[in-house]
Amino acid sequence: MDNYQDDRVICPNCQRRVVPRLTFENQVPRASWCPMCGKKVEDFLDSGSAALAVLVLIGIAYLFIYF
Ligand SMILES: [Zn+2]
Repeated sequence: MDNYQDDRVICPNCQRRVVPRLTFENQVPRASWCPMCGKKVEDFLDSGSAALAVLVLIGIAYLFIYF
C-alpha cells in the first residue's frame, strides 16, 4: 500500500514535485514538461537520436536485402 511507484520529479524551474508530461516523437519520448510552470524538465534528444540511428541502420539493412 505504501510502496506505490512515485514517478514525480523535482522541476528544475519551479522546484515543485510534479509528474512530468511527456511528449513523443515517432513513438520515442522526446522531452518531459512541467505541468505547473510549463517549462522543460528533461530532454531525451540523445536517446531519441540513438533510436533514430538504429532505425536508419535497419533501413540500410532492408535496402541491402531488396537491392
Ligand atoms: Zn515547473
